[in-house]
Amino acid sequence: MKVLKGLPVSPGIGMGKVILLQPEKRHIPLRPITAKEIPAEELKYRKAVDKTIAQIEALGTRFADGTDIKYKAIFEAHIAILSDPTLHKKVCDRIKKHKDNASRAVYKTLQELIQTLSALDDEYLSHRAPDIADIEKRLLNNLDSKRPAKNNRRRSGVVVAKGLEPSQTASMDPKMILGLVVETGGPTSHTAIMSRALKIPALVGISNITEELKENQFIIIDGSKGVVFIDPTPSVLEQYRKKKRYADRISKRNLKEDAMLPCETFDGRQIHISANIEFISEIDNAITYGAQDIGLYRTEFLILDKHIDEICEEEQYQNYIKAIKSLNGKRLCIRTFDLGADKQSPFTASLGIEDNPFLGCRSIRLCIEQPNLFKQQLRAILRASASGPIDLMIPMISRKSEILFAKKIINEIKKELKSKKVKFDENIRIGIMMEVPSAVYIAEDLAEEVDFFSIGTNDLIQYSLAVDRGNQRVAHMYTPHHPAILRMIKDIVIAANKFNIDVCVCGEMGGDITYTQLLIGLGLKHLSVTYSTIPQIKKIIRSLNFYESRAFADELLRIHHGELILERIIEKNKKIFPKELQAS
Ligand code: PEP
Ligand code: MG
Repeated sequence: MKVLKGLPVSPGIGMGKVILLQPEKRHIPLRPITAKEIPAEELKYRKAVDKTIAQIEALGTRFADGTDIKYKAIFEAHIAILSDPTLHKKVCDRIKKHKDNASRAVYKTLQELIQTLSALDDEYLSHRAPDIADIEKRLLNNLDSKRPAKNNRRRSGVVVAKGLEPSQTASMDPKMILGLVVETGGPTSHTAIMSRALKIPALVGISNITEELKENQFIIIDGSKGVVFIDPTPSVLEQYRKKKRYADRISKRNLKEDAMLPCETFDGRQIHISANIEFISEIDNAITYGAQDIGLYRTEFLILDKHIDEICEEEQYQNYIKAIKSLNGKRLCIRTFDLGADKQSPFTASLGIEDNPFLGCRSIRLCIEQPNLFKQQLRAILRASASGPIDLMIPMISRKSEILFAKKIINEIKKELKSKKVKFDENIRIGIMMEVPSAVYIAEDLAEEVDFFSIGTNDLIQYSLAVDRGNQRVAHMYTPHHPAILRMIKDIVIAANKFNIDVCVCGEMGGDITYTQLLIGLGLKHLSVTYSTIPQIKKIIRSLNFYESRAFADELLRIHHGELILERIIEKNKKIFPKELQAS
């Protein structure tokens, strides 16, 4: 048995066979190309077509004697599709017009064809969709030989990868993926956030584990302690089986018992608890886990795989309407696109590569640079606001001019909708994320302009402490308990109270039970968290006394060392946490 240590990012125990995911280029590369590269990409495509035809012909010869006419006909049909000049024209047009590399051009063209065919009423034609999918797979394999076997995802086991994109994590099925070990990333990387949302035990920050492990090797991961056991001994295996059975029983009981209890402190202070979501399909689960509404909807996930001409107002509008229906009167806080930095799309890629994307043209800055994209989304949000309660939230505000710009555009769209007699909520609440240190210093100036603040601790910590939230080498310095962070949160709450506006914490700190008493003591009355943590948070809130928590926060604010602050928090939590929430 070998034991490795990483950073725990999503609690729980996962055990099973290793599924190794190949790094980076394993999926369709989204590299935009320059005009100079167009001929080379076209040639690459032609060669891949020839190679694919040759492979299919070779397969077809196995049936040449007519033993199975049906299979032969399938291969012939595949070759016919691959020889179709219309297909070549479409792929080459994509390479030229969109400056897509060959793999993406193939992927996009064939996906469109698959969707069109699948939607047809004609049974024969609609049944051709799997053939196109088969061709697509072969072509992509020939264009990018490093693509992994697709059935990786279908097997059950513990996924081990160098790095994962948010969309890859999002597409994982928690029934099949028993755990996640990723070499890169920190506790607030989007992969970590999503693994918590999906309740997949996960840990990050173990360098070279993909080289250490073999496919199908048996491992246990402890997502609460950040430990991996490779080839565990029978006694460790038995110990962890017991732990897992116990944890499963507790979590089921907690969910049922705690999710619907009122969210208030022992002495009656009401705390509003909302959920953060990336996809509207998460809404039902969020409500089941006890969320009162949605406090952060990260809408950029809607368009992460799109080029600019594929982003459309109607699709966004329909999506928001669906969310409103699922919420049945509960509020939806829609955050406008927070694109850029670690959330790149074909569209952002087409705008060029930045040396320092976290400090670059991301989020509201990108919306100001690309007003049409921003207007389109605001129009969709405003139109949807006629159908249910919606809050509109702008991320990454670092200066007053940004919120003034956003408000100006919102007012223009309101006027436009009014003149067209399109309904919307005239009093839609507009809020901002407080996640850049400069915004904290001008919190009062910003509070004058908005209806609410939402504290994005993930970025606030990253920018204040100059620690990349996704870099495991500095992950030990990514400390929510740094005195500067405590003081910033306190100042934001004071500014919000002075201007009588709401203030919420929607970063991961709000969902980490270590800090619940501190946040309540700092005066927060609203937390928006990954929904799977809600039962635990409620349990802790219900055991707290507000005045005692406030005195505790004051005490912590007087300590000047983060390590001492954390020590004191841990000591206090030992006294107040119910038994099952004590770290084992
Ligand atoms: C944050 O920064 O805390 C936040 C909630 O936004 P995101 O994690 O999407 O950057
Ligand atoms: Mg953020």
